[in-house]
Amino acid sequence: PSETTKRRVTILGSTGSIGTSTLDVIGQLGGRDAFEVVAVTGSGNIELLAKQARAVGAALAVTADESRYDELKQALSGSGIAVGAGRQALLEAAAAPADWVMAAIVGTAGLAPTLAAAQRGADIALANKECLVSAGELFVDAVAAGGGRLLPVDSEHSAVFQALEDDQRHAVERIVLTASGGPFRTWSREQMAGVTAAMARAHPNWSMGLKISIGSASMFNKALEMIEAKHLFDLRPDQIEVVVHPQSVIHSMVGYTDGSVLAQLGCPDMRTAIGYALSYPRRSALNVERLDFAKLSRLDFEAPDEERFPALRLARTALGRGGLQGAVMNAAEEAAFHAFVAGRIGFLQMAEIAEEVMEAMAGWAAAVSMDDVFAADAEARHRAGEIIAKKEMAA
Ligand code: NAD
Ligand code: MG
Repeated sequence: PSETTKRRVTILGSTGSIGTSTLDVIGQLGGRDAFEVVAVTGSGNIELLAKQARAVGAALAVTADESRYDELKQALSGSGIAVGAGRQALLEAAAAPADWVMAAIVGTAGLAPTLAAAQRGADIALANKECLVSAGELFVDAVAAGGGRLLPVDSEHSAVFQALEDDQRHAVERIVLTASGGPFRTWSREQMAGVTAAMARAHPNWSMGLKISIGSASMFNKALEMIEAKHLFDLRPDQIEVVVHPQSVIHSMVGYTDGSVLAQLGCPDMRTAIGYALSYPRRSALNVERLDFAKLSRLDFEAPDEERFPALRLARTALGRGGLQGAVMNAAEEAAFHAFVAGRIGFLQMAEIAEEVMEAMAGWAAAVSMDDVFAADAEARHRAGEIIAKKEMAA
């Protein structure tokens, strides 16, 4: 294709697990011949960010870490690639004209940049589920107002999206999100009490960033995904089911009012979902592993245990209450996750902290604007911090 027909893409969080997979998919689908990479962004890993920017010929490379500007500038000297650092530069990278923006920053840090991209009118490929959990309808509305499409990247939501026929939305009865159950699927609470971050990050099926790996072990990731699904597909809470499926082959399902259930299957590799979001509504050929059913031989399912994995119960509470409870749950959990990884609190305390903050902030009125979301996020983080300090003292 000529310069003018190249698809303009930006990857927010290009140095992470989803970001590197996205660049791999872009490479497989024609690389610089088919895409113009507008911006790539990262935070700590400057060497990788610079290497990526050079490899794809990005126009702009930005690190969220303001103190790393000189380092990035140095690493890209002579390349002609523009360099930026810090919060404002990140927002500018997000808002630079691109047709398609991969939102793959981890955590609430991704909310403001992803919003900037949405408001400018890009199609948003959403890996950063925290955006939707925190800002819910406000985020969905921002994408719609910008004129872009919201394309799910989370494997479960991509599966639902793929199994959801537009003209049959009226007949959707439920969606069934599958969960691997993580490394502690069969563990008792007593056993889980002593796990370390190193144990929790070892996922049986998927290779992912640290936060989502820990979130898979505690099933907080599935809790976030339940709320993500509500907003993406405009569902009632009682239409959202979770089933534990240890092989991670069925990525999720849609149940229709005639009793039919449509599932999407594949090997656990995020590149399929990323490729779908990039090529939608078409599909592109990808060099990923194919399912071998004879080798698989069986698929297992079990009901999730909300006693051992209270995150799922908290998601139900947040869905029932609506309003800012998603933002509160997400922020409290993110603070607790950082404390757990730092060795300050135990594995089971993450859910306790989220629950305590959710209870304390249950009366907060629903968000009218994004400012309300950011205020609830900050307050929940602050309250979580106080509880973490108390628990640390008691330990
Ligand atoms: P990761 O930790 O591997 O990468 C995170 C990226 O965000 C990196 O590029 C990092 O530089 C950047 N980043 C970190 N802190 C930042 C900050 N404060 N400001 C700006 N940028 C910052 O994470 P990941 O596993 O790739 O996950 C990214 C998102 O995708 C998360 O929201 C996660 O839940 C979601 N997701 C991931 C997977 C997966 O398989 N990894 C699957 C589904 C959804
Ligand atoms: Mg997922």
